[in-house]
Amino acid sequence: MDCGCGPKILICVECGQEFVFTVNAQEYFAERGYTEDPKRCKHCYMIHKRDKRPNSTSMEAEKVNLDAIYPE
Ligand SMILES: [Zn+2]
Repeated sequence: MDCGCGPKILICVECGQEFVFTVNAQEYFAERGYTEDPKRCKHCYMIHKRDKRPNSTSMEAEKVNLDAIYPE
């Protein structure tokens, strides 16, 4: 038992599948001031992002961030 902040298993609100919210991802979120857990798995998150931002100019940066949040 350290600080109790290990990886969390979350349920995707879109597809209902379990996905892992890793310690790295939690730190990544904390650095950006996000206080809520992610609601979507990687797959649904990418679809959501794409729907929100049709232009793909920022996809490279997003991809790096996605790898930090959702390591395979
Ligand atoms: Zn999903």
